[in-house]
Amino acid sequence: MSIKLSHSSKNTYLQCGEKYRLHYLEKYRPVTLSSALVFGSAIDNSLNVMLENKDNPEILKMTIETFNRNWEQGENSLRQVVDMPLNPDIKYSKYDQDPDLLEKSDWAELFKYDKSFFETKSEIETLMSEVDWVDISEEKRRIYNYYNWLCLKKKAELLLTAYYNDILPNFKTIIAVQKKVELIDEAGNNLNGVIDFVAELQDGRIAIVDNKTTSTEYEEDAVATSEQLATYQAILNIFAHDTDNDWKHEIKACAYAVMSKKLIKDVKKVCKSCGKENTSTHKTCDNVVNGSRCNGEFEKTKSFKVKTQFIPGTINEEFEHAVIENATTVKSCIEMGLFPKNYSSCENQFGSPCPFIHLCHGKNPKGLVKLEK
Ligand code: SF4
Ligand SMILES: [Zn+2]
Repeated sequence: MSIKLSHSSKNTYLQCGEKYRLHYLEKYRPVTLSSALVFGSAIDNSLNVMLENKDNPEILKMTIETFNRNWEQGENSLRQVVDMPLNPDIKYSKYDQDPDLLEKSDWAELFKYDKSFFETKSEIETLMSEVDWVDISEEKRRIYNYYNWLCLKKKAELLLTAYYNDILPNFKTIIAVQKKVELIDEAGNNLNGVIDFVAELQDGRIAIVDNKTTSTEYEEDAVATSEQLATYQAILNIFAHDTDNDWKHEIKACAYAVMSKKLIKDVKKVCKSCGKENTSTHKTCDNVVNGSRCNGEFEKTKSFKVKTQFIPGTINEEFEHAVIENATTVKSCIEMGLFPKNYSSCENQFGSPCPFIHLCHGKNPKGLVKLEK
């Protein structure tokens, strides 16, 4: 049997062999999708448009429009196209929401669906820490998700604008976007992947770049230890030295282009009557004017900044070889039908339990669907 392995399937195997088997061989998929996955892929699709048309003066507008289209409709676990705003099957993270992002018209829309939205919200947030997401009523999940969806829609515009202003100028030319790579060994085994993009940096080096939307900061040395980037660099450099391959660029650097979902906020309350900026929690202005309390109404102004990181770095040849060798080891284990269970990763996978936990620990396929093989 020849095996197709990607960076992410190899990672899944290394996290837990049984998880790999259930996902890639049995084709089980969790009904619930994480917002990080869905949002990340809508952002990636729109960044592709930006990168492919880097020098077009209208590009930021086109990119945001692409995002909005991708954010209106997306794929569910069965790869069917579904409407996103009220989709109950997405599980949003607490970092996604930010009420200050919403305008009056957004709140009006939201309250059209649920007059007591804030009560529903706190009820759901309590439930989320106690039961599985799918156990909460579908109607309530829809409303809660609509709120998060609206917040992320606003956030995307800020993130993409920050990418355009802060990250894009690091590239002189874009060489390839969504570059598919496939390395086939003598046994017909295949190590494949899709590289976000390859670009010429301002210093002339050709680099593999990976876009990340995250709520945690990246370390400044994140590139040197990245197995994903090392895998892509190894594959492209094998191609560059292969006279039969039309890939001719030797890779000398890799980089992460990171946008943080945690916004830096500046919310100001200025008194409409005396003009004083207020920092207290009072409902009206507490400034004393001519011996008496002003009591003026506030004008609230909000501004947001996105923290971006552009982290270039190099990966040494030794690590390049090591990751390819490791992929070969993983392939051998899969060929031998070895799927060890890693019980230490059942309860916490990026803050949530393993999606297969009920099936794996109790033969109950709750929360799962099966893709046709
Ligand atoms: S529940 Fe635990 S052992 Fe089972 S697939 Fe998930 S991580 Fe592996
Ligand atoms: Zn005042």
